[in-house]
Amino acid sequence: MTGEEMHALVERLYPICRSITGDGVRRTLEIIGEHLPLTVTEVPTGTEVLDWTVPKEWNIRDAYVKDPSGRRVIDFRESNLHVVGYSVPVSGTYTLEELRPRLHTLPDQPDLVPYRTGYYAETWGFCLSQNTLDGLGDGPYEVLIDSTLAEGSLTVAEHVVPGRLPDEVVISCHVCHPSLANDNLAGVAVAVALAGALAGRLEEPRHTYRFLFMPGTIGAITWLALNRERVHLVAAGLTLACAGDRGALTYKRSRRGDAEIDRAVTHVLRGRPHRVLDFSPYGYDERQFCSPGFDLPFGGLTRTPYAGYPEYHTSGDNPGFVAPEAMEDTLDALVQVVEVLEGNRTYLNLSPYGEPQLGRRGLYGALGGRSDTKQAQMAMLWVLNLSDGEHSLLDIARRSELPFAAVEGAAQALLEAGLVKEKA
Ligand code: ZN
Repeated sequence: MTGEEMHALVERLYPICRSITGDGVRRTLEIIGEHLPLTVTEVPTGTEVLDWTVPKEWNIRDAYVKDPSGRRVIDFRESNLHVVGYSVPVSGTYTLEELRPRLHTLPDQPDLVPYRTGYYAETWGFCLSQNTLDGLGDGPYEVLIDSTLAEGSLTVAEHVVPGRLPDEVVISCHVCHPSLANDNLAGVAVAVALAGALAGRLEEPRHTYRFLFMPGTIGAITWLALNRERVHLVAAGLTLACAGDRGALTYKRSRRGDAEIDRAVTHVLRGRPHRVLDFSPYGYDERQFCSPGFDLPFGGLTRTPYAGYPEYHTSGDNPGFVAPEAMEDTLDALVQVVEVLEGNRTYLNLSPYGEPQLGRRGLYGALGGRSDTKQAQMAMLWVLNLSDGEHSLLDIARRSELPFAAVEGAAQALLEAGLVKEKA
């Protein structure tokens, strides 16, 4: 998928009113399912999941606040951000003074509408710009929230690309936000594109790749509860969010800090503007995957991180805030991370006493004239020197500061010349 195609997917998903449960998530998964086969699991309300319980399902059809002339001064149809997520049904007449405690604005960003939810509070409310609020008279106002909060289910979806090994690389995206683009439709679009890139590979991948599309927090907790007996198969994981703003890529390390995924991503990012953050138990669902009982090797990839930009969780996080080129850059980095995880092996130098004579084996001549000859030779020397059974190709790439592909290419040439063998 090109950046433009990913952006088109963001725009298509943007109007849907998603929450942690309900038809908005299902409709989103149907659209993702046009790109990738998905396995969708419905987990009933009331199911105990780890320390949590699957909540009632929320759905909404319409909501408004009408002024005395009958005009919708706050209108769900204009933007689903106008209703506090999980608002209970309401129908009545209120003065502005009565409504005020239920009206949420951003006084410091008076043009923007905030994003608010009340998942577990059984409350209701509206979000609007400060400018709109400042223009409202005393009322009375006719208020309607045509929603349902009832027994139902929570929806999680998976797409699996089978590999030769049972161990898994997991990419997890939250799909519970309504009309917000960077957080997290951009992450969803990049994940869809990455799955497409994996499907387009000539050979079956070595690892199994599992893409998770599920609501934040309660979705991850539900998935972990359902998969408790098999999470030991997770060899590497990433939460992917905020993948399309114009900021630099940011990698947040796993709780372990030096897992293969940490070393792979930080090596890939080395050549481009980026930031690396240490783990903290705040942010996206790496919080759940890295909870101490699981302690999975899960990092987080974003551009500008969680809550790190003024448009975060406001109407300013719209498709215009997401750049096709930024999503392409995020995808490109992820494809490189996949190439590292796929190619990372540990070799043994079979001729470790002195350097083997490379010229005699045609390993210098084969490289003659190539502009990257110097790099290829350095890679060969590094692979020979560090292939003592203790260092993987990723370790060698990091130590030598050479691109992983150069190190992998050198190892392949040495393997064909019989100078190294893969460590069993
Ligand atoms: Zn968010």
